[in-house]
Amino acid sequence: MASTDPDCLFCRIVAGEIPADVVARTDTAVAFRDVSPQAPTHALVVPLSHHADVASLADAEPATVADLVRVARDVARTDGLDEYRLVFNTGADAGQTVFHTHLHVLGGRTMTWPPG
Ligand code: 5GP
Repeated sequence: MASTDPDCLFCRIVAGEIPADVVARTDTAVAFRDVSPQAPTHALVVPLSHHADVASLADAEPATVADLVRVARDVARTDGLDEYRLVFNTGADAGQTVFHTHLHVLGGRTMTWPPG
């Protein structure tokens, strides 16, 4: 049974308590469209279990980190993308606003570097 936090937005999306445009679901992860897309494709891939960030997830469930990447690749492929950006914002100063691990999948336009 995955650990969850009843006050966590993404735990509630995983549980189906808050609606989201879900595009993929596996035994370990759910992917859904970002509510405020920053590119033509912008999805979030989240583990079913609640961990504040990817480093915490890597300690607790290292295999799930790889699962997130595979799901992200599949979401991109479904949107017809072979090239895309994957981002784990980790910590508030890095831009993290939701403290349940999530992998951003961004694509469908040319990306710039460095990110803001
Ligand atoms: P972060 O800034 O933590 O890396 O990314 C959080 C992302 O979650 C943001 O891109 C934001 O637009 C998205 N987000 C916040 N609330 C919701 C929501 O209720 N539904 C969906 N689908 N995305 C959300």
